[in-house]
Amino acid sequence: MTEVVYKLLAEVVGMPSVAMDEPMSRHTSFKIGGPADILVEPSDTQRLAAVLKIIKRFELPYFVMGNGSNLLVGDKGIRGAVIKLSDSMSDCDVEGTKITAMSGIKLSRLANTAMKNGLSGLEFASGIPGTLGGAVFMNAGAYGGEMKDVVRAVTYVDTDECRVHTIPAQECDFGYRHSVFADGGRIVTEAELELSTDDMSEIRGRMNELAARRAEKQPLDKPSAGSTFKRPEGYFAGTLIQEAGLKGCRIGGAEVSEKHSGFIINAGGAAAADVLALIDHVRETVMKKFGVSLEPEVRLVGEF
Ligand SMILES: Cc1cc2nc3c(=O)[nH]c(=O)nc-3n(C[C@H](O)[C@H](O)[C@H](O)COP(=O)(O)OP(=O)(O)OC[C@H]3O[C@@H](n4cnc5c(N)ncnc54)[C@H](O)[C@@H]3O)c2cc1C
Repeated sequence: MTEVVYKLLAEVVGMPSVAMDEPMSRHTSFKIGGPADILVEPSDTQRLAAVLKIIKRFELPYFVMGNGSNLLVGDKGIRGAVIKLSDSMSDCDVEGTKITAMSGIKLSRLANTAMKNGLSGLEFASGIPGTLGGAVFMNAGAYGGEMKDVVRAVTYVDTDECRVHTIPAQECDFGYRHSVFADGGRIVTEAELELSTDDMSEIRGRMNELAARRAEKQPLDKPSAGSTFKRPEGYFAGTLIQEAGLKGCRIGGAEVSEKHSGFIINAGGAAAADVLALIDHVRETVMKKFGVSLEPEVRLVGEF
């Protein structure tokens, strides 16, 4: 059946925007993950809706991803289809202080576009290696800023009817690393952002400063998915992990970063099973020592 669906999808998106048995390690910032039965990259909302209709007609399971920068994909891969909304769906339009962009645009490109147009508000996002869609889904944030501060409206395809809807930010239920899109049933295709005007060099200066802070604190030279755990109320995950003596702790190729204990890195040839075992070990140790429950921020996908 996979082959039949693959052929139908190829008619909708064209080659090479669909692949079979695609290693997910090529599509995740962790550089980990077994094969997806099918990986498809539609280039616009209409094609996305058509892709979804085919997948649903054959009752194939599916998973939607952006840039794969917050994912741990299992070593046995993902059954069914992965719909990747990234570079192939990344147009963006600036009008006054408003930017309308498709969900696949990278946050770095979006922040640079804003900066070049003298628009401030996305500096916090410039170093987050995800897409706009992934960032809206997660309400991504850094250095005091969050997506909810700049998003005015979100357009999505509902996965029941495959129809396009637009809702205002007030209906997105943005919270800490949460939005209504994380509840399922909606694929983000576009967002409208409202920014404020400022001097281009001031904006660039702030972006450079945040980039320097990131480079100083985070192990950016090693594959990871960013902060492994959400911030537990009243604590910092990295500090708890460090104080539990886990800095540098290693299982297989997975390691608690020496540079930032809040990051688990792929120190070389790590399997998803290594990362998962290390996540469990860190959670158990921190729970035993401090009685604090660490919840993964990284999303676990596929078969382990
Ligand atoms: C070095 C590094 C630093 C990081 N720093 C930060 C940081 O400072 N702040 C922060 O918040 N995060 C950070 N992250 C994590 C990550 O970049 C963000 O969570 C980002 O928003 C994920 O976007 P993505 O496109 O990669 O999504 P993916 O990882 O591909 O997917 C994440 C989730 O979003 C869903 N999703 C993706 N696109 C869509 C869509 N269009 N419609 C519906 N659902 C969708 C997926 O199903 C999945 O559940 C960092 C990661 C790394 C590797």
